[in-house]
Amino acid sequence: MEILFGGVGDAFSTDNYGTHFFVRSKNDFILAVDCPDSYRRALKENAFEYKAGTLDVGDIDAMFITHLHGDHINGLEMVLAYRKFVTKKKLVLYTTREVINDLWEKRLEVSLGTLFDGQVYQKMSLDDFADVHIVEWGEDAECGPFTLTTRKTIHHIPTAALRITEADRTFGYSCDTAFDPTLIDWLEDADTILHETSFGPAHTPLFSLLELPESVRNKMWVAHLPDELSGEKTDLLRFAHQGLRIDV
Ligand SMILES: [Zn+2]
Repeated sequence: MEILFGGVGDAFSTDNYGTHFFVRSKNDFILAVDCPDSYRRALKENAFEYKAGTLDVGDIDAMFITHLHGDHINGLEMVLAYRKFVTKKKLVLYTTREVINDLWEKRLEVSLGTLFDGQVYQKMSLDDFADVHIVEWGEDAECGPFTLTTRKTIHHIPTAALRITEADRTFGYSCDTAFDPTLIDWLEDADTILHETSFGPAHTPLFSLLELPESVRNKMWVAHLPDELSGEKTDLLRFAHQGLRIDV
């Protein structure tokens, strides 16, 4: 599989789009992970080659949402509307039970809950926009050619770390988390690991990653970067950047 990095910034970044990426299977299935602000603009700028053109919102086969912070879901309203009105194909949405409990009533319903068709106002539900699949913590879920497994991270609100497996290859993603050695253990046997870094008690300081064993650091990429780390380089870790494409 390959990973296409759409954005690598943290919540406050002005240098980068919010951290999100696409996992592309051998047979071109596209799993999008998270959906920050300016989502379609990032897609246009990154211009990932896909079939005869470049990857766009209509090409996404499934999306996984890790948690409800805006820098991970502010673009979702646009994506759902675009899929409904432009490509006329519901979004296949994977997420946790905690996210689905709040996503519609506390977030999307206020803007997508009523549609005017020119004559009448129609009440809408999340099912009108998305086919929802709940991934239970720690249980495998099939998503096209991928198997997804989640683990709760240490963060302000329920947040999912992910293992994404296709055949014998696994990509591990910490998502937003305080430094958690037990999460590193859970990710450690993945072929490639993406880990976050940022400031504050619910994020991982860079020095904690720099102190990891070489065997882990050698397969790790770092994203969710504050602007303070823009352009930084170290021999000990690799920073992901927008438009980056890596094979797993
Ligand atoms: Zn967060």
